[in-house]
Amino acid sequence: MRWFRFYDDAVNDPKVQLLNGNLFKLWVNILCIASKCGGVLPTETDIAFMLRMPENKVRQSLEELIASGLLDKVKSGLAPHNWNQRQFVSDNSAERVKRHRAKRAASGLQSQWTAPKDLRWEVYKRDGFECVYCGAEDELSLDHKTPEMRGGTHDPSNLQTVCRSCNASKRDLTHEEFVSRNVTSRFLKPPQNTESEQNQSKAEEAPSARRTPRDELSLVLDDERTKAVIEHRQRIRKPLTAYAAKQLAKQFAACPDPNLAADTMIANGWQGVKPEWLESRQTRAGPPAPNAAFVKRMEEQVARERSYSGPDQAVSAKPD
Ligand SMILES: [Zn+2]
Repeated sequence: MRWFRFYDDAVNDPKVQLLNGNLFKLWVNILCIASKCGGVLPTETDIAFMLRMPENKVRQSLEELIASGLLDKVKSGLAPHNWNQRQFVSDNSAERVKRHRAKRAASGLQSQWTAPKDLRWEVYKRDGFECVYCGAEDELSLDHKTPEMRGGTHDPSNLQTVCRSCNASKRDLTHEEFVSRNVTSRFLKPPQNTESEQNQSKAEEAPSARRTPRDELSLVLDDERTKAVIEHRQRIRKPLTAYAAKQLAKQFAACPDPNLAADTMIANGWQGVKPEWLESRQTRAGPPAPNAAFVKRMEEQVARERSYSGPDQAVSAKPD
């Protein structure tokens, strides 16, 4: 069914409101016919046939509508007054969506390509059903390592599993650019390509370079809390990098009960936690007893890693 625009100010338009009932009905019918005929009315004979009216009656009514200023004489016949200005031919939702998608695709934000189900499944499965960057297991999407707009293909080797949040941060960056800008946390799983590539990759990695947020948090939290904290940070759009996870683990460790601190942080929607924030909420008795040895060890490790130019650091001096 085709629709046309009707101006709501017709209710205030004297030209319209002064029409008698029959002529008003005819005028609306004429608009429908104009819409069906691309904005210009067909012959009086055709109109008479369409409206089951005598031709002379049609002719007389059209004259009256012209006299009322509701029909204009145009080059190819008669047209409703201002029809072309009021009707935007291309302005239907399908066209708008198409334009929107084209614009997004042109800016590299969205692909017009939809992955076949099998391919999506294949890639998700290969990547262990988790985001290759942050390990999130929810809201997974397919990402082109090299974006389509930059020549990337739909080959599985160019596809990876990425959560919506990481996907949004990656935008039109290539995988390599994204990783080297340190927007990411967890480095890729070991490549499963050639042996030489595997060896090279091992050689490039410092011992702690592949620690994940999960690894860091599980030093101080139980499994359940570790998972909950990672998911919480995803939810609040602050996905953890390995470095941030290490800092956060330190914060938890400084609290009397790290697991309780994690629960409190999540319950309050906080991004992090400090022992003093918990004081009024702490339900457990007992003096705060931060694990001083642990904090010291973490601080030393962080300091060491700051000087290491690995994939988790914002560096440009990656040996290549
Ligand atoms: Zn992610």
